Amino acid sequence: MKTLDDLLKTGVKGRRILVRSDLNVPLKDGKVTDDKRIRASLPVLTRLLDKGARVIVAAHLGRPKGAPDPQYSLSPVADRLAQLLGRPVEFALDTVGESARLLAADLNNGELLLLENVRFNAAETSKDDAERAEFARCLELLTGGEDEGGAFVNDAFGAVHRKHASVYDIAKRLPHYCGDLVRDELQVLTALTGEPERPYAVVLGGSKVSDKLAVIESLLPKVDKLLVGGGMCFTFLAAQGYEVGDSLLEADQIETCKRFLEESPDKIVLPTDIVVASEISEDAQTQVVAADAIPAGQKGLDIGPDSVRLFAAALADAKTVFWNGPMGVFEVAPFAAGTKGVAEAVAATKGLSVVGGGDSAAAVGKLGLDKNAFGHISTGGGASLEYLEGKELPGVAVLEEV
Ligand code: ADP
Ligand code: MG
Repeated sequence: MKTLDDLLKTGVKGRRILVRSDLNVPLKDGKVTDDKRIRASLPVLTRLLDKGARVIVAAHLGRPKGAPDPQYSLSPVADRLAQLLGRPVEFALDTVGESARLLAADLNNGELLLLENVRFNAAETSKDDAERAEFARCLELLTGGEDEGGAFVNDAFGAVHRKHASVYDIAKRLPHYCGDLVRDELQVLTALTGEPERPYAVVLGGSKVSDKLAVIESLLPKVDKLLVGGGMCFTFLAAQGYEVGDSLLEADQIETCKRFLEESPDKIVLPTDIVVASEISEDAQTQVVAADAIPAGQKGLDIGPDSVRLFAAALADAKTVFWNGPMGVFEVAPFAAGTKGVAEAVAATKGLSVVGGGDSAAAVGKLGLDKNAFGHISTGGGASLEYLEGKELPGVAVLEEV
């Protein structure tokens, strides 16, 4: 795979370089509430701008339905990006329309243009190869194409598992390079998939239960311990025959979880106590109950203190730890302790500790944990999980093509 260094060696002054960045940040009332991903994108952009490139940045935000939707506009991101870069940022009101074309054509050396949310165009995520290819062609045209010096840098690790036009198809049309973020992420994940130092423990939580059950399937044979918390633990508790009240539950996956428990009884560690409440709110009435005694009408919203001790003990001798997914609804104070406790235990491990997942990374920041205590905090949850599952990442595979 060619890297940004390879591109810089060829000289980028005056060339239009299309960079796919991961700027998918949380917004509230039109303001960026966590700019971690914007900050992470700066090095690649700065390196290109310092060398006189004309940088065009493509990115997505949220899941608009293939049409412009003001609540998913990248406009607030453009403002923050300009602040953090300490340079002006041009912002196109569309992705490949008139505004984008004019601004791209007008770029001077060392100037940056951010395109509007690529997902405002239905072709970006289309299953139809021809539709995506056509959109990619329009993106390519913004650079002037290969003959005019156009090139593509993918620095959006959080999107490499998507076969989308601005991730995959565009790399087929332009000389392509991986950005520093993608390079660094792949380096760490390769260490996990190769010969991880043992014991190797994986902690899974979060809310995307059905997504993550597939991960469990492929991880179970590879890990020594699998700790399950968050919204996904209730399907496992149900598989053990427990009532889970109004907690998150994937009823159609109970059988799958039963099979996991039968096949790997010594590897899977489940919570022994649960923090329950009838509602998710800052002043919720909470109660800690045994995992097999969740009252009807109550929601399990965090793992309890006993579970935290159990999980910490299971992690204590691990030499490699991968953690994805909060242990509870950490955004709301009464349900944050489980995530905090387990995150501390992950941070305390002696070997390599890797955090994957947007919300898990956000939890590290929000709960006041020391980022440096972790070996690596990945910006792309879905992408890192798919990599660990052994799936091919389309956005990486295409960068490997010559
Ligand atoms: P990541 O982004 O790290 O991959 P996910 O997106 O899968 O993690 O899940 C994060 C979300 O899971 C958080 O918003 C958190 O509130 C939620 N969550 C965790 N535990 C529970 C639970 N018991 N019930 C409902 N939601 C939960
Ligand atoms: Mg998430």
